[in-house]
Amino acid sequence: MGLHHNTPLLESRPLSQKAGRPVWLKMEALQPSGSFKLRGIGAACEAHAGAGKRRFVSSSGGNAGLAVAYAAGRLGLPATVFVPETTSERAKALIRQEGAELVVHGASWQEANERALEAVDSETAFIHPFDDPILWNGHATMIDETVRAGLSFDAVVLSVGGGGLMAGVAEGLARNGLQDIPIIAVETEGAASLAASIHAGRRVELPGITSIATSLGARQVCERAFELARSHPVESVVVSDRDAVDACIGFLDDHRVVVEPACGAALSIAYAHPGRLSPYGRVLIIVCGGATATVGQLLDWQNS
Ligand SMILES: *Cc1c(COP(=O)(O)O)cnc(C)c1O
Repeated sequence: MGLHHNTPLLESRPLSQKAGRPVWLKMEALQPSGSFKLRGIGAACEAHAGAGKRRFVSSSGGNAGLAVAYAAGRLGLPATVFVPETTSERAKALIRQEGAELVVHGASWQEANERALEAVDSETAFIHPFDDPILWNGHATMIDETVRAGLSFDAVVLSVGGGGLMAGVAEGLARNGLQDIPIIAVETEGAASLAASIHAGRRVELPGITSIATSLGARQVCERAFELARSHPVESVVVSDRDAVDACIGFLDDHRVVVEPACGAALSIAYAHPGRLSPYGRVLIIVCGGATATVGQLLDWQNS
């Protein structure tokens, strides 16, 4: 059950041909909020509503804010999303369309987040975009569905921002007896907080985010993601923004679905770095989605 949908699990003929092995896609881009985030955030909002909270607050101008707005609407409760001035008009419009109150405050996410935290009271639940075990438990349902559909696979490719998706997929693998299946954890240059932490041997904070893949723009991954890089087979890969954008355009041609560069990062492993998949038989790519990029913007990025 839950507020999310059971998404299609597709064998990709074009990507299988490019990668030289069967590539399967878990199509989280088709969630009603446009990304996988609805799984975890929907679960969190339901749990908080069940515990008596009367409204929700988020400080994400991206897919997490959108998922909170959608989930709140489904639960019949109000949501307020605090975003910085840098948030795109499209993202603001999408959040408002879902019926959430939008408050624009501050030059950066830090300032918007501080204002959001001030708005939290005993009847309000603050929904974190990636660092919450309730979220990971919700994200894990994408692996439950994949296993239930009867698909076996030898590696999972996914994108990493703050690491909530990775933590959820790892939980899903573990609870289905697949804790030995490797995760290929993909970030873009300029947003590679997991790769930097693995390299340093400790959880580091990036000085800033320079990638266009803003949905991967957590300056620091959550503790759980860093711990998983040690306890679970995780291969960290960093790709260029160009690879990520080219993969979005390729995916648009091949599968007729628009995704953000944050998702293109994972897809680019099949498009631009298929050698990374050579140790594996069947590969599962989490098509995490993202609603904030338009075709026009993808083309602008590609031509810039
Ligand atoms: C949030 C998001 C990510 C990264 O997820 P984390 O849990 O922060 O690692 C990747 N792709 C899209 C489209 C997202 O919205």
